[in-house]
Amino acid sequence: MAMRAEDTIDLRTWAHRAADWTADYRDGLDALPVRPRVVPGSIAAEIAAAPPEAAEPMEAIFADFDRVIAPGMTHWQHPRFFAYFPGNAAPAAVVAEMLVAGMSAQCMLWQTSPAATELETRVLDWLRQALDLPATFQGVIHDTASSATLAAVLTMRERALGFTGNATGLAGGPRLRIYASGEVHSSIDKAVRIAGIGEDNLVRVPTAGPTRGMDPTGLEAAIAADRAAGHKPAGIIACVGGTSVGALDDVTAIAAIANREGLHLHVDAAWAGAAMICPEFRPLWEGVAAADSVVMNPHKWLGAPFDCSTYFVRAPGDLVRTLAIHPEYLKTYGRDGMVNYSEWSIQLGRRFRALKLWFLIRAHGLEGLRAMIRDHVAWSRDLAARLGAEPDFEIVTEPMLSLFTFRHLSAADGAADAHNLALVEAINDDGRTYLTQTRVDGRIAIRLQVGSFQTTAADLDIAFEAITEIARRLDSATTVTEPLSRARTAG
Ligand SMILES: *Cc1c(COP(=O)(O)O)cnc(C)c1O
Repeated sequence: MAMRAEDTIDLRTWAHRAADWTADYRDGLDALPVRPRVVPGSIAAEIAAAPPEAAEPMEAIFADFDRVIAPGMTHWQHPRFFAYFPGNAAPAAVVAEMLVAGMSAQCMLWQTSPAATELETRVLDWLRQALDLPATFQGVIHDTASSATLAAVLTMRERALGFTGNATGLAGGPRLRIYASGEVHSSIDKAVRIAGIGEDNLVRVPTAGPTRGMDPTGLEAAIAADRAAGHKPAGIIACVGGTSVGALDDVTAIAAIANREGLHLHVDAAWAGAAMICPEFRPLWEGVAAADSVVMNPHKWLGAPFDCSTYFVRAPGDLVRTLAIHPEYLKTYGRDGMVNYSEWSIQLGRRFRALKLWFLIRAHGLEGLRAMIRDHVAWSRDLAARLGAEPDFEIVTEPMLSLFTFRHLSAADGAADAHNLALVEAINDDGRTYLTQTRVDGRIAIRLQVGSFQTTAADLDIAFEAITEIARRLDSATTVTEPLSRARTAG
């Protein structure tokens, strides 16, 4: 007997239950440890090893979700999530995601969901205006910055090869070269690998100065040396807000070189790009109008639930020529306004991601989003100043927007890296806040970024208390043979 899915599950009842659960969850986050206190394997041990042959009641499934899964989650919407980068999910955008799941349309072509395509075009142009990118830029939504950057690197490759690489492959061709600093995200390394260019051809340009930006003279020298060696420069990747400490390349200077050398310039502003909706932060990416492509993740700071990465390109023709698998789509592109976004993306299948952006931007307005970002930047500066004023803490890198790094100066001399790694672990086990570590000039530093939509100024006070208290407790637990002040002046 044929049975419809709706006969077994009452969607209305369970969607309401899920909505209630979600609202309660969000309201109760403050009381939870940011990172769950679980040991590896403990959750898997609670999950049946084999799939059920017979249908189970939703009541049982939901109860297990509540009992086993939810407590094992790291709470990215927690007000004191200061690790990695934020992953905000504004309530209005969460509602949009529910609607998207309900419709579950596959939005690869205009005709497979006209509204999804046309909304994407419109909303991406809203974002373009919000970021103050020139009208010559057009946007498309990718899942992640990794995919957007891969699309950029593939475009670089094809441009450099006169659009022959897709057909003939790279064997026997010139050695393609891509330029970036050592501060760029690992997704650039990955894109260069996947594009078949080879990581050995990702040229690391030295950085200089407090912003850890690529040295333009070094970039020019690297390009000249490669040309002299018979290699083929293909493109440059600039970073605006590097993942480790927020490194900043001088986009104006690099764009001038890219233009002179005829190279595609891709700007990775996956995290920091969101702040460019605030005019006062735009000097950080001054010159971006001359770039060929820019990636910014609304799923980080801006409030679109994961995943949603926006990729803006100045010449969609090059992108489409690189990624389109059916040349006939080129014929319709730009003529009748019908866009098939799968021709702008790596994957064929596409989720309907524009809806959450539309809900998000309308529910908050640009001013509402700006106000949150401005608060985060101000609170980050305050906290850095407070920690820096403590005698046993040092600020390793000053706030770049809302990201800074610090270190606790341990009495246990010569064990600073181990001490600070132990400190991050202890802070995260404590649960009041959640931080991550990085390496700055070879030494461990603790990263802190303020970016959760739930955060209030009081949460920064709690973080300050947790960090200083745990650091000092750890320190007194290690063998201290001389007073901290003596140890420090000696060191
Ligand atoms: C987060 C981040 C990425 C990677 O983003 P995904 O969307 O997870 O691929 C790349 N570059 C920078 C600068 C980032 O901050």
